[in-house]
Amino acid sequence: MKYTLSHSEIRDGIIKLCQQFDGRYWQECDAQYAYPANFVNALTQEGYLSALIPETYGGLGLPLSAGAAILEEIHRSGGNAAACHAQMYTMGTVLRHGSDIQKQRYLPEIASGALRLQAFGVTEPGSGTDTTALRTTAIKKGDNYIVNGQKIWTSRAEHSDLMLLLARTTPKEQVSKKTDGLSVFLVDMREVVGTSLTIKPVRTMMNHATTQLFFDDMAVPAANLIGEEGKGFRYILSGMNAERMLIAAESIGDAKFFIEQATAYAGEREVFDRPIGKNQGVQFPIARAYADMRAAELMLAEALRLYEDGQSPGEEANIAKMLAADAAMAAGEACIQTFGGFGFASEYNIERKYREARLYQVAPISTNLILSYIAEHVLGMDRSY
Ligand SMILES: Cc1cc2nc3c(=O)[nH]c(=O)nc-3n(C[C@H](O)[C@H](O)[C@H](O)COP(=O)(O)OP(=O)(O)OC[C@H]3O[C@@H](n4cnc5c(N)ncnc54)[C@H](O)[C@@H]3O)c2cc1C
Repeated sequence: MKYTLSHSEIRDGIIKLCQQFDGRYWQECDAQYAYPANFVNALTQEGYLSALIPETYGGLGLPLSAGAAILEEIHRSGGNAAACHAQMYTMGTVLRHGSDIQKQRYLPEIASGALRLQAFGVTEPGSGTDTTALRTTAIKKGDNYIVNGQKIWTSRAEHSDLMLLLARTTPKEQVSKKTDGLSVFLVDMREVVGTSLTIKPVRTMMNHATTQLFFDDMAVPAANLIGEEGKGFRYILSGMNAERMLIAAESIGDAKFFIEQATAYAGEREVFDRPIGKNQGVQFPIARAYADMRAAELMLAEALRLYEDGQSPGEEANIAKMLAADAAMAAGEACIQTFGGFGFASEYNIERKYREARLYQVAPISTNLILSYIAEHVLGMDRSY
């Protein structure tokens, strides 16, 4: 297969690194529900997780498309970057909205791997997609904010030192717009875990290290407020396009994995004395998934181009994320069908990848909400919620 790919050197480096972490490695992590620590350490040591951190702070200072290339190749190799991808987009909030002191204090250590910024606490059990309805509060008392409430689906919290947290600092009734009064904090979880912060793992259909968090009078130094109090919602929104594009890249990697596996297997597997891949009934779903993947890939390339040109490609980033997640599902479906019964056997990695790829129909934003975005913000239709 030929693709128009950027950052070929980075891709080659990732392909080489991922060869040390083969299907068996991911199967074992999956079976034991274990965090892929060796994989994440290797990525960190090679500097890939600090790709987007500016060189002044010890990172590689690469553009977003390089981050997308890294995540795509991890997924294409059969791995799962969900164990560590958040560092790439949460770091952007600190970079864009943090003070010089905060950036000097945290970014070099994040870049070196001494500190992990993998946790992003936004979603709550009671608010779901309606972020502004979140109920976790942060009340200023002296030099601290005192945080109470709970979060759900805070992934990687057990494997992170820092968390970017969104909490309400002014009650909803006291703000003119419901998006006001929310603030972002950089929480050093090492100081509070086990006392005012309780972390409870949540088992999911794939190995994702996600958790539920409970805050009980958790003190966060006021110095760790990012930007201005009450403006946190827009800081989080400003990172959304990058997040959408990086996740789209992972889904494109998933689609490529499935297509390559299905194509190879269809050529090898003989039934009725001929390769199953000679049948159009086997070929066509794979070919269609390939076409879906290419469309998603081109939309992602356009979104990245606009982003790197300094624009805010909300339309393109959202469409790329949706098309890519759909292409991954179509390719996964074609692949599992091509493998027949063996598609369900763990040792082929197809069923595991299928479970992992399914997440991106829901997180970090569900398909319905992307369609609502297109209807409202691109087509000018009435807001439906
Ligand atoms: C494994 C996993 C990891 C995650 N990691 C993180 C993380 O690290 N940090 C974090 O903050 N969050 C995380 N999330 C949360 C994720 O972002 C949310 O699950 C997602 O935003 C959807 O929210 P919800 O689950 O509350 O669904 P809900 O908001 O309850 O929605 C349920 C369904 O209703 C639909 N729906 C809701 N409102 C509308 C509407 N107006 N129109 C049409 N359809 C609608 C949705 O599309 C969805 O299909 C994670 C989730 C999972 C499952």
